[in-house]
Order: sequence, then C-alpha cells, then structure tokens
Amino acid sequence: GSDKGIQISGSSIDFNDIGGQNTAKKELKEALDFLLYSKRMKELGIRPLKGVLLSGPPGTGKTLLAKAAARYTDSIFLAISGSEFVEMYAGVGAERVRRLFRKARDLAKKEKKDRAIIFIDEMDILGAKRGSNVSHHEYDQTLNQLLVEMDGLGSEEQGPQILIVAATNRAEALDPALLRPGRFDRQVKVDLPDREGRLAILKIHAKNKPLATDVDLEQIAQETYNFSGAHLESVTNEAAVFALRDDVLEINMTHFQEAVEKVLLGEKLDRKPTD
Ligand code: ATP
Repeated sequence: GSDKGIQISGSSIDFNDIGGQNTAKKELKEALDFLLYSKRMKELGIRPLKGVLLSGPPGTGKTLLAKAAARYTDSIFLAISGSEFVEMYAGVGAERVRRLFRKARDLAKKEKKDRAIIFIDEMDILGAKRGSNVSHHEYDQTLNQLLVEMDGLGSEEQGPQILIVAATNRAEALDPALLRPGRFDRQVKVDLPDREGRLAILKIHAKNKPLATDVDLEQIAQETYNFSGAHLESVTNEAAVFALRDDVLEINMTHFQEAVEKVLLGEKLDRKPTD
C-alpha cells in the first residue's frame, strides 16, 4: 500500500509502565518540554528541537519510551522502521519519507492534535554514514530527504509541531550530518538495566500475574545480570508457562528460576555474579 510500514497507534504506554531507565526518562522529558512549551521557547528565540536519538542495546525500552513520549505530550504517534526504506528502486525511499511527514500532518489535523511524534526504529539502516559500505546511493537519497524534512520543521506557520524520535543500537554508525545542531540535537542513552532497574521491570511484568509467596523478585533481579527489559518480560512470561505446565494456579520461585535458565540458554547471555 501507499503507506507501507507506517504504524499509527494511540499510545497506551505511560512512563510508569517503563521500569528503570530513570536517567533516560528524565532526559527525554526535558527534551519534550520543547514540545510542551514551544510557544514560550519561540518567544525567547530558542531554536526548536527537531530530533531526539535514543541509543542503546536491543530490548531496553526505546520503543516504549517513544510511545510514552507521545502520550506525555498528547501527540499523534507514527512509527516506522529504518528497514522500511530499503528499496531496490531509486527514489522510492525518499518518496516514502515525504509521505511519512505528510501523513503526520494530515493525521494531526484530522485528530485535532497540535503535535506529532514520528518514531524511526533502526535508524542506522536509514542513516548510516554516507559513502560507508552499508550505505549506498538509494539510502543516501532517502537520508537526504529526511534531512530536508527535518530542516523544514518549525518554520511552518500552520500544522502540528513534529518531533522525530529515532532509535538505534549503533549510534556510532550514524552519519554525522544527523547529529548536527537542528537535527538530532539530543541524544538519550538507554542502557541495560542495573539490578534496581531489573527489579522494577520484573515488578511491572509480574503485576497482573498470580505469584506464590516464595517468589523473591529481588533475587531474580540479582541473578539476571545483562538481561534487557525484553528478556525480563520473557522471564515472567516463561515462568507463567511453567506454572501452566505444572497445572498450578500460582507461579512459584522454581518456575522463575527455570524461566531464567531458559532465557539464558536461548540468548546465550553471559552470566556474571554481580552487576
Ligand atoms: P529494539 O532495539 O529491539 O527495537 P527497544 O529498545 O525498542 O528494542 P522495546 O521494544 O521498547 O525495546 O521493548 C521490547 C519489550 O520489552 C517491551 O514491549 C516490554 O515488554 C519489554 N521492556 C523493555 N524494556 C522495558 C522496560 N524498561 N520496562 C518494562 N518493560 C520493558
């Protein structure tokens, strides 16, 4: 279809649904003030913020953060992956970028929203250093078009304010042109959670599950060094599956421990005794 790969969602994610990541949340919220108080900022002559880059390993909550940002700012939320811009034919990617921005404007108008957040996941696919071996001519056109669109943001008299939130796990591979002032001005690191973060994430995902009294999430948090939020979500889910296997109504500590082993095996994570 014409809007291939663009996902639109009313954002149901709240910052409170994201465990740990306190620094990332704080920095992102600070950046979002640019959207929330744009009028004051304009009066003061502050350059509008056009892009925020979330960087860090897979499964750490970057997509969740982008969705929470949309809810926090009452914005339309559109998401697309950098891989959607990969096309054989020249010009298709660039046209897709144009369409993405048009779609954001149309949708904000239709839904009577003043703001839109465009989330681009796997930004490194679209924004690899120009002339590098992963980059080739077609991506270069696509990247150029994105830069053109970003440069135009904030100058329109009408229409929603648009903020681009991009995510990558290879920030170092990005074209430096993307990181220049007026583009992805703010970079927010989204790292693997520490023990406290892991506990917060486990609590979030265990919230609606029946736990036996022997379950010690602090201990599970201690034992899951190097796990991402996505891994921890798997742990709670697998633990519930083990409870089903045992035909019991509550998830117990053995189920959790089996689940940790299963996720470890599946992912070949390094286990270290401390964090
Ligand atoms: P990728 O780089 O692979 O796109 P990501 O950083 O965008 O990963 P998300 O898509 O946000 O990761 O997270 C995947 C899933 O993992 C979430 O839907 C959620 O279930 C769980 N998750 C990840 N991080 C957290 C977190 N900090 N708090 C709660 N759940 C989390």
